[in-house]
Amino acid sequence: MSEKGRIEKPVLAVDIGGTKIMTALFTSGGKMMAREVTPTLAGESAPTVIERLCRAIDSILEHNNLVMARVAGIGVACAGGIDSTNGVVVTPSPNIKNLVNVPLADILREKYGVGVFIVNDASAAALGEYRYGAGRGVKDLVLFTLGTGIGGGIIADGRLYLGARGGAGELGHMTVDVNGPACGCGNTGCLEMLASGRAVERDVISRLKKGEKSILLNMVNGEIEDITAEQVGAAARNGDPLALEVLARAAYYLGIGMVNVVNIFNPEMVVCGGGMAELGDLLIGPGRRMVNERAFSISSQAVRIVTAQLGNEAGVYGAAAFARERMTRGTV
Ligand SMILES: [Zn+2]
Repeated sequence: MSEKGRIEKPVLAVDIGGTKIMTALFTSGGKMMAREVTPTLAGESAPTVIERLCRAIDSILEHNNLVMARVAGIGVACAGGIDSTNGVVVTPSPNIKNLVNVPLADILREKYGVGVFIVNDASAAALGEYRYGAGRGVKDLVLFTLGTGIGGGIIADGRLYLGARGGAGELGHMTVDVNGPACGCGNTGCLEMLASGRAVERDVISRLKKGEKSILLNMVNGEIEDITAEQVGAAARNGDPLALEVLARAAYYLGIGMVNVVNIFNPEMVVCGGGMAELGDLLIGPGRRMVNERAFSISSQAVRIVTAQLGNEAGVYGAAAFARERMTRGTV
């Protein structure tokens, strides 16, 4: 087959997260043709999770009357430490504990006979937002994924920056308080421990247990442990002082992280994605102010801090772009 034929075929993209596997098909022009979602059931063994992944791939092909021979290649976005050069999930995401040292690219390549390209999910989201979302037309961009945890991705001079082995962009694990709480990564005071959805929930729950008052108590009928970050956001929008204070604390630490990122990368844009970014100015506003006050002016004057545009589809958009670029240029 000619190089041109291979490039014009659709790309199959996969985003493997802690709760769901999203599959999608993209035209050569980057337009999404189809999308499906299935549970990851991430607590199961690696072979079982991979089997579910293959079933999800087979399903979207079947529903679109495609066979893999008519697909250019597979792009995979996956949580965890991903060695993109060798296509290996090296260190697991806390949410998908059993995927460790799994040569996922080789496994899928052997099964399907096409090129398979794997990238960290937050790096994929950065590439997705850069190509098709908030970052179109911007050459230097840093993405924070603000969800249950915090991830990140870096676009430097129009290219996805992965570092020496694929581990770059772990923005959630920069230290923002050396004496802060211990993190699952082995460090202390990581941004993720102080500004993620889980951190917000932890702070609210501990303060309520100490007897503080909040409308959140009514929202969950007294079941304090059930409180979600989303509910904290809703309470804050209703003016609840406790929710506002907890979010202000998270926003403060996120602001410290943003100042660091702006000083290090001098990005034209900082994009905030993930469920927590839907809190908008409640979470991101203080960061904007702190960047203005604390970052070097050469960098703070250049940066726009915005919310993402692709929602939970950023990962598959980015995985498709990653595969396409690796196939056409041999690199991203
Ligand atoms: Zn950490």
